[in-house]
Amino acid sequence: MADARDQAVGGTDATGESETSRTFEVSEAATEARQAERPEPAPEAARGTARPITRVGEPVLHRPCRRVTAFDAELSALIDDMFASMYAADGVGLAANQIGVDAAVFVYDCPDDEGVRHVGHVVNPVLEELDPSRRRLDEAPEGCLSVPGAYEDLARPDYAVVRGQDRDGREIVVEGTGYFSRCLQHETDHLNGYLYIDRLSKRGRRSALRQMEEHLAKADASS
Ligand SMILES: [Zn+2]
Repeated sequence: MADARDQAVGGTDATGESETSRTFEVSEAATEARQAERPEPAPEAARGTARPITRVGEPVLHRPCRRVTAFDAELSALIDDMFASMYAADGVGLAANQIGVDAAVFVYDCPDDEGVRHVGHVVNPVLEELDPSRRRLDEAPEGCLSVPGAYEDLARPDYAVVRGQDRDGREIVVEGTGYFSRCLQHETDHLNGYLYIDRLSKRGRRSALRQMEEHLAKADASS
């Protein structure tokens, strides 16, 4: 999952300064905010190697990932690479198929709406059905590292519970509210073969893909 908070900051136009200096100020402020929120990256990142991120259209993103059955050194190395890749891409969550690996595991380093930072991984995640009394929808902009440069509003429950395993095969339960709840749902969707744009209206989906094309064209032009 991409960090949508940057988008919110980038969308403001309060300074009235020139484009260049405003962009610089904004990115500096965003970097400082991130450093304050993430005093240190998860230790896994230092052991791992960042890999390229897969993009919408690549088959590995559009089918369910295989369940993990071997809790071995290979799985640990994959989780390390996923943390390194997530930080390199400036994301708050990453699923294995986003680095081209067909395995049901995701990682996260994501704040909730109270500013509490959540860091971890889940193997074989299953989203728990919510009791209707706990099901409140929250509509907010969502982005994805596999649809770079695009953000669209999407309503999701503001509370989520994911059950799964850790890298040693122990049963774990991860509970999230606010932005972190969105992250847990977004990453579990990935491993089931769905992108957030699959949950948008036809118009929203077209808009997201158009934003991505524009973003990539701009990135091409400046490289
Ligand atoms: Zn995503």
